[in-house]
Amino acid sequence: MRDENRTPRRRVAVIGAGITGPLLSVCLVRLGFEVDLYEAYVRRAQDVGSFLNLAPNGRAVLERLGLADRVLEQGVPAGSIAFANHRGRALVRNPERTTNIMRGELSGALREAATDSGVKLHTAKRLVALAENHDGDWRLGFEDDTHAEADLVLGCDGVNSTTRRLLLPDAPRPAYTEVVGSGGRARLGASELPVDGRFHMVFGLRGFFGYQVVSPGEVWWFENHQETDERSFAELAAIDDARWVAALADRHRPDPAVVRRILNASTGPVGRWPVHEVPPLRTWHRGSAAVLGDAAHAVAPHLGAGAALGMEDAYELALALYEHPTPQRAFTAFEESRRERVEAMAKQARQTGAVMTPDKWITRVIRDLMLPMAIKQGVRKGTEAYSYRPSPWPVRTG
Ligand SMILES: Cc1cc2nc3c(=O)[nH]c(=O)nc-3n(C[C@H](O)[C@H](O)[C@H](O)COP(=O)(O)OP(=O)(O)OC[C@H]3O[C@@H](n4cnc5c(N)ncnc54)[C@H](O)[C@@H]3O)c2cc1C
Repeated sequence: MRDENRTPRRRVAVIGAGITGPLLSVCLVRLGFEVDLYEAYVRRAQDVGSFLNLAPNGRAVLERLGLADRVLEQGVPAGSIAFANHRGRALVRNPERTTNIMRGELSGALREAATDSGVKLHTAKRLVALAENHDGDWRLGFEDDTHAEADLVLGCDGVNSTTRRLLLPDAPRPAYTEVVGSGGRARLGASELPVDGRFHMVFGLRGFFGYQVVSPGEVWWFENHQETDERSFAELAAIDDARWVAALADRHRPDPAVVRRILNASTGPVGRWPVHEVPPLRTWHRGSAAVLGDAAHAVAPHLGAGAALGMEDAYELALALYEHPTPQRAFTAFEESRRERVEAMAKQARQTGAVMTPDKWITRVIRDLMLPMAIKQGVRKGTEAYSYRPSPWPVRTG
């Protein structure tokens, strides 16, 4: 039963403590909401050993909230992104400043910021059921047979979102992008590669490779390549790290020697994933529940945009819930303001992906002819994509 002294529609259940969820929770608590954050894992296997590149628009959200230094403390700034082709020829340099950071570190720092703000974090709580009560609030069921209640449910549970499936059962399922991504660390001799503050990207003949030398001898790398037949996360995870890396090194045999050098010097766990995207959803909400971040619009990873988009979502949805008198009005305003941006990013990511990981030789020939022009255009579009800046944070009124 609802506590009559409580401000109506103030108890929020946020599902998923990856990136979008903890940041949304911080924003909501600061705006006077009471937030429970539910996370399926203590630490996700997918987060181990892999990093992501946080775009300037994501950093801008963290700065607006005064969290950038703290949350990105374990990150490594990249002063520019340098693109080269499979012959090692420099193509173009994107002068944007970005930050590379281990996924687990980013998520962990955001969770810590959330709990320090007063968010109640519950780990090992996998949402499995969601029922709307007569008065429009929600009963949540978890895998461990426990339950909770909330006025609002906000699903930040990623590309395979359970919240989305329970809330919007007719929504299209995530689609395999025919790309497999991997990421890890390598240890080289201290003077083998310079610590040049650049994020290097190589358009290999049969795969796309990126790396940054983060300190003398330590390199973070990622790789994306095309695989038409989908292998599940579990199937990929079952492959021994050394075998996986050796196969990648073989795939990159025609490319600049530095790619194989880094792959062959890999140490520690190597993350790998079949990559999915969420096709456009007709709506992102029902009643007083909604999905956001990857749960609403996971885009292919080729732009390195998903985490920053999730951060934008978190900020914008919190403000909408603060400003609008009902959650439904807030959700409608949020969707109207966000849909065009995320759909444009999804399209751009798909186009970039087609250039990055072509499987047919003829596509590769055309790509190599078009690459310098396509990359320059991509950098221009990327700059537009990065240009989001959050509106001022409203004065807290209670
Ligand atoms: C190969 C690859 C490379 C990428 N590289 C970049 C990059 O360089 N830069 C970038 O910005 N983005 C990148 N992305 C995208 C980025 O990882 C996502 O956009 C981002 O993680 C989305 O954050 P999120 O919080 O919405 O979802 P997630 O990070 O997926 O978090 C979802 C959370 O919900 C939890 N969860 C799931 N189900 C349940 C449940 N039923 N109950 C409770 N909790 C649940 C999960 O355990 C997880 O912690 C990449 C993605 C891939 C696949």
